[in-house]
Amino acid sequence: MMKKTTILLLIFLTGCTKFMVDIRKDNHWLVKEKGNIVVYYRPSGTAEAPAPTTRQAEKIADNQNRYLQDLNDTLHLNFNEKVLVYLFNQSEAKELIGTDGGGHAVPDVNSFYFTFINLGFFDGVDTAYIGSHELVHVVTHKLLGLPGTRMMSEGYAVALSTGYGYTYDNDSGIIRKSIDRWMQQYYAEERILSPYGLLNQADLPERIFYPNAGSFVRYLINQYGTIRVNKLFPVEKNAFDKACKEFLNKDLSTIADDYRIYCNHRYGPQN
Ligand SMILES: [Zn+2]
Repeated sequence: MMKKTTILLLIFLTGCTKFMVDIRKDNHWLVKEKGNIVVYYRPSGTAEAPAPTTRQAEKIADNQNRYLQDLNDTLHLNFNEKVLVYLFNQSEAKELIGTDGGGHAVPDVNSFYFTFINLGFFDGVDTAYIGSHELVHVVTHKLLGLPGTRMMSEGYAVALSTGYGYTYDNDSGIIRKSIDRWMQQYYAEERILSPYGLLNQADLPERIFYPNAGSFVRYLINQYGTIRVNKLFPVEKNAFDKACKEFLNKDLSTIADDYRIYCNHRYGPQN
């Protein structure tokens, strides 16, 4: 029988960064399936950088199942489909998926791919390797619709994965860098973005844009609840003010004023 090597997907991505990629589904994957999660990972020795061990792949699957449960609870949704996770080794990732420090979501086919880095971080409950940012993209894009703005797409992903990037903590070791940590720094540097800034400067670098979007979406969710805020997810920039009036009973300029006060209290220097 012929060796089955087919190009499975050639997709224009709607995840973190838009670009073309092909995901080859060939014989070079091991598979670990648990609950809703199917983890595809490389056999050891495939590339220079380490592949996950069976135990690590299992832990990744367990964590993703836990994140999925938390997401369903938080969003009042019921995403109950399989999610396929493709883990590339760090030494091959740049060439094959365009990044060697993160991943991309392909929500149309319930998939994301990610760089496996053999350096665990503490996610608040367990040791993690890939976090839930891309999983949030898959679930939200699938159930709430195509995002109308980068603000809502990345805002949800950052707010619901509890942070962006990493930092070091004396007690826990490597941890997610929290939204508060980023925003305290940006407050001091006068880099806090209002909702207008988030809507109109969506091409700002990830480092600035993502924590700001996460902060604002977290604020909206805390203030108005996910059921109402979910309705803003697919709304396009030019319709955003109108949608705020319709779904939150407030216009965007009032929300922006409220949010500025909130930021001063939460991120400003303590008196
Ligand atoms: Zn993202």
